[in-house]
Amino acid sequence: MTRKTRGEGMKRCLECGTKHSRTRQFCTDTCRKTWNNRRMTRGAVIHDLAMRARAHKTRAHTTLLNQQLDAYLAQDTREGRDYTLGRVDTQEGR
Ligand SMILES: [Zn+2]
Repeated sequence: MTRKTRGEGMKRCLECGTKHSRTRQFCTDTCRKTWNNRRMTRGAVIHDLAMRARAHKTRAHTTLLNQQLDAYLAQDTREGRDYTLGRVDTQEGR
């Protein structure tokens, strides 16, 4: 039997950054729910801004969408979340 090196086989929780040994992306159900609730709320806002930008096809509407995305990224950076590590689902109904 080999002894594991500290941190070996550990994953970092996408929500809180805590290292954990679970095979999932989150350390707890609370973190998973928090992540997914924020994702759903933000998704609704981004959907509306994106649809409006596409319908109007003006720079002003596209700018609003980009500003909102930048605000979310800034918030995530302040709070230590890295969305580049998360899975991306591009198909509806999954
Ligand atoms: Zn966590």
